[in-house]
Amino acid sequence: MSEENQEPEKSEESTKTKFTFKCTRVDTCCMGRGPIPITFWDLELWAKNGVVANFMPYLDIYQKPDGGIDLILKPLPPPPKEEEEKEKTDKDPFEAVPIEALLDVKCPMYNVNDKKCLIYENRPLSCRTYPLEFDGKNYIVVDADCPGLGEEGMSKEDLIEMRSTAKNMHFELTRMRIALPVLNQVVSSNFMKMMMKQQMDAMSKMSDDDKGKLDEIFKKQEQEPEHDHNHD
Ligand code: SF4
Repeated sequence: MSEENQEPEKSEESTKTKFTFKCTRVDTCCMGRGPIPITFWDLELWAKNGVVANFMPYLDIYQKPDGGIDLILKPLPPPPKEEEEKEKTDKDPFEAVPIEALLDVKCPMYNVNDKKCLIYENRPLSCRTYPLEFDGKNYIVVDADCPGLGEEGMSKEDLIEMRSTAKNMHFELTRMRIALPVLNQVVSSNFMKMMMKQQMDAMSKMSDDDKGKLDEIFKKQEQEPEHDHNHD
């Protein structure tokens, strides 16, 4: 059987139930999906619509447990409870919450009060294919509890389009997963070079007096570990 004719796995479980889906827009998926992977398709769409800058505060790189990295829409940490608010004052205000702690947190683009996606027209490809995914061989339903599953009204054309979106997501995600580690490394090494150049420029502009003071500070720091040893 060709890939095009494969039914998603859910419908293969039972010969009676056929895969049908219609998004009910109850948005339960937006409440706890964790990081949403972003692809070049999304970046291109946002660039075309002139909205890339709006997404910048929410974009992050997620180093996954399997070692791979994804560009993601990072969930925002929920507001702290009262007791936590008191503790917060002692903490570093720039300390970032690790993405692992936000895996069940709502999407930052979901407005809970209005119960809607704030960027629906610009929503990522991943949201357009959810809950159907393609893994390169088969179509998979990744959320069996999605309320849209089993809804009537899906035409043959809708199914073809959904499968095509799932395939496109797989292709785009693969493209991004190949490119991201390379880009990440190039950007990090360029950033290091830029920092070192700025440091050398700053040093070259220092007066002899300031250079002497800096030398003294370094000498003191070098001596300190030996000082500690004497106490061992
Ligand atoms: S981007 Fe929109 S559709 Fe996608 S998970 Fe977030 S709120 Fe839901």
